[in-house]
Parts: sequence; C-alpha cells; structure tokens
Amino acid sequence: MKMRKRTTKVTVETERTFIFRSRDYKQSGWCAVCGAEAEMLTLEAAARTASVGELAIWRRIEARSLHFSEAADGRVFICLNSLRR
Ligand SMILES: [Zn+2]
Repeated sequence: MKMRKRTTKVTVETERTFIFRSRDYKQSGWCAVCGAEAEMLTLEAAARTASVGELAIWRRIEARSLHFSEAADGRVFICLNSLRR
C-alpha cells in the first residue's frame, strides 16, 4: 500500500515537469539572419529535434551554421529554419 502511494507521487511530479517543459521549449521570435518570424527553440529542444547532443549544437552555433538569439534572461534560442537546413 505504501509503495503504491509513492508511485503515484512520482508520476504527478513527472507530469508537472513535462508540462512546464513543453510550454517553455519554443517560442515564436524574430530571426535577424532569416529576416523573418521563426520558431525559436531552446538549446535542449534544438538538440532533441536534431537528434544530437547540446555540444554539437554549440559547435554549429560557433561555425555560424545555426542562427540564434539570446533572450533577456540569458537563454539561447535556436532558429528552427537553420536547424533544418
Ligand atoms: Zn534563422
């Protein structure tokens, strides 16, 4: 009985985390390089979308093959158009 209660609690916490992430992982924004509105993904979401690690995303940013912008809170957003290219 005690074990079942514990399992329920963990599930609820996982859902909460997921909801927070799915609402937060992308936003519409202006990409200066595209010169257009674009879907901007967080670093984590961009890595997941491209099926690579976050380090690989950083390398592509450094190589200027990805467009990015930095939000006021310091988070980096990746342009989905450049990620698909
Ligand atoms: Zn772009």
